Amino acid sequence: MLTIRCAVCRAKLWKYNKLGKGEVLRCHKARIVRWLEGIEAAGEALCPCGNRVGIDKGTYWKMIRKAFSHSGDTVNRL
Ligand SMILES: [Zn+2]
Repeated sequence: MLTIRCAVCRAKLWKYNKLGKGEVLRCHKARIVRWLEGIEAAGEALCPCGNRVGIDKGTYWKMIRKAFSHSGDTVNRL
């Protein structure tokens, strides 16, 4: 399980059940376990600080690489 965090203010945005290794380029909505401080608004995934971390692509969020970080269990650590 990964915790997706804002790269600007470090807020915890959501918990994500990532399958496989590699970078987080997308977050599939079906595998978002729980929203924390993240906000869904107008086709964007936002942090309360205003930082935009993802774009709604229907079944998944296309993640904006520099806008977020993650922590938790992952095969490839950053
Ligand atoms: Zn933030």
